[in-house]
Formats: sequence, structure tokens, C-alpha cells
Amino acid sequence: MTSGTTSIDKLITNTIREDVRNAGSYVVPDASGYIKLDAMENPYELPDELRAELGQRLADAALNRYPVASYTTLKQKICAGLGVPAGYDVLLGNGSDELISIMATAVAKQGGQRAVVMAPTPAFVMFARSAGFAGADYVGVPIKADFSLDLPAMLAAIQTHKPALVFLAYPNNPTGNLFDAEDMVAIIEALGETGIVVADEAYQPFAKKSFMGRLPEFPNLVVMRTLSKLGLAGIRLGYLSGDPKLLAEFEKVRPPYNVNVLTQVAAEFALDHLDVLDQQAEMLNAERTRLSTELAALPGVEVFPSAANFISLRVPDADQVCARLRDEKVLIKNLSKMDKLLANCIRVTVSTPEENTAFLTALKASL
Ligand SMILES: *Cc1c(COP(=O)(O)O)cnc(C)c1O
Repeated sequence: MTSGTTSIDKLITNTIREDVRNAGSYVVPDASGYIKLDAMENPYELPDELRAELGQRLADAALNRYPVASYTTLKQKICAGLGVPAGYDVLLGNGSDELISIMATAVAKQGGQRAVVMAPTPAFVMFARSAGFAGADYVGVPIKADFSLDLPAMLAAIQTHKPALVFLAYPNNPTGNLFDAEDMVAIIEALGETGIVVADEAYQPFAKKSFMGRLPEFPNLVVMRTLSKLGLAGIRLGYLSGDPKLLAEFEKVRPPYNVNVLTQVAAEFALDHLDVLDQQAEMLNAERTRLSTELAALPGVEVFPSAANFISLRVPDADQVCARLRDEKVLIKNLSKMDKLLANCIRVTVSTPEENTAFLTALKASL
């Protein structure tokens, strides 16, 4: 037998796909000791009495059993509480990240016939990663400098590449803006029977705008959401609605029991107390307004409109700002290297008034 390192490298070359070997990892910085404003988490927890009640429910969960495979109760609560149209059901994912992967896998043709997954860029990074790992080709179509959709470019790219799946984040991450709804409809209609549009509404609790109610108008539209940004990032639950026949196809790709019993119990509990989470979203929206106003008053800072629980802004030197903020123990996202439209841009999650003020103070000192 050869030395350990040599044989493992050869093993990897012989077995692991080339595109996987060449891919970078999804990097998540260690945030202990930091004010964490990089991942669009809700800073608020559930009130103590609700946490105690949830603790009891979790203690009673049957950890020795597989989850109830149909997830009927959880699905009913989602449909009833979150505006899913009558006659429509939901598909559940271990986060919406898993739903992205399920859809990419379901459409990807293999061999010489790879399907195309498309999104306006800059976009949420998991669209490209999941498409690649599923074996589909990814085509990004640049948005305009004001972050709006370049509709003629999208329609031309649809003609050329015939995508099976088009992701439109509404509002978009990392830019924060809502695309024009009529532009989105034009894309849905242009695709018709040839492609599926995913309205990714991860930030719907803050944006309040949605395509959910319009599902019956468009058989090739699906709406994907998550409980993560609303305040339950830790439990990992995403949901997707769309035409029942189409959902049934995606359902075949979903790993059985992908939502675990602790998530199921916690989500059912949270959905019974949606008012608490909605109130937190309201507070965050009020802080988004305050933070945007105060940021816009800073010299050399350009603030972009946001309908989400984060704000993207352009600063004179993003690398310098991020480094100085890190020294002050404030973690934000540097968008500079992500896309040429985002030169010197940073993204900050809207948090509590105290944390937002700490960010503002540190930012002012770093400019
Ligand atoms: C955060 C985010 C997601 C992922 O959400 P999870 O449910 O936590 O996996 C999906 N889409 C967009 C646009 C996001 O910003």
C-alpha cells in the first residue's frame, strides 16, 4: 500500500466528479463574539412563555419514530396561514436550499442533453451551485445597473438557451429590490410550456408582495418560501407551491423524511403563533426605514432600496469598511467580488435598534 496521502488523492481523482473537485466550498465565517449581520437572521427570539411551551412540545416529540411521512398537519397549517390558494398544496424542504436542489435535479437532463437553469445575476449563489451539482448548465443574465431586470436580455437569453427552470428572487438577494411584477409576468408567459419559473420569496415576510395568489393564472409558475428569514433559520424549513401535477413530479425527487420531527413540531408551533413573528418582522421593517435613512445621509454612501430584511449599499472602499467593522466585531457581507455590478457594495442584515446603531457607529468610523 502507498502512503496515505497519495492513495487518497488518487482515490478522489478516480471517483469524485471533476466539477465537484474544482468547486469551492460554501464558506460560512465563524461568528462567535461578533454582532452577526451577515446572514439575514431575525435577531429576536420567541417570548419566554412560548419558548417554555415549545420546550414541552419538543420533549413530547417521538424521536424514536420516523416523521409522519405525509406531513399533513404541517402542510395544512402552512396552506391555511400563509396564503396558499385553495386547491394548492405545498412541497416541504430541509430549507428552501433543498427545494432548489430538488427542482434542479428534476429538470437536469444528463449526458449530451444538459438542461439549462437560468437566473438574473447577481443572484442567490445556491441557484448556480445546485444547478451545477444536479448536472444542469447555469446561465446568468445580468440585471441593469439600477438592479432592475433587463427584460429584453432575459427574453433573448430564454430564446437562445431554452431554460427548463428560471429563478426570480422576489425580492432579489443580494440587491434587496423587488423586480417589476409585469416584467416577471412577461418572463413567465414567454416560457409557457417550455420552462418553469420559480418565484423565490424568501423575504416575503418583509416585502409583503407575493405571486402566491397568482399561481392559478400561471401553470408554469411555482412559489418558493422559507421560514428562515422570518425567524426560524435554525429549524430549516422551506415550502413550495404550484400546480399539483408539477409538485407531484418534484415530490418524487424529495428524499423521504427530509423534514425531521423536531422541525415539524417547532414549525407547527410557530405557525400557531405567526402573529408574534409578524410583529418582529414589522419591527425590523421599521428599523430598515431608519437605517436606510441614516445610511443615505452619510457622505460617499449610496443606499439601494430594499424590500427585505437587509440593506445593500455602496461605500468608497468595501474591503476597508469590512476589515474595520470586523475589528469592531461587526460581521457583514462584502459583495464586491461577487459581481462587477456590486463593486464596493456591502450587505447588512437589519437587526435590533441597538445592533443597527452599533453598525452605524462602526461604519461611520470606518469611512
Ligand atoms: C436565504 C435565502 C434562501 C435560503 O433559505 P433557506 O430556507 O434557509 O435554505 C433562498 N433564497 C434566497 C433568495 C435567500 O436569500
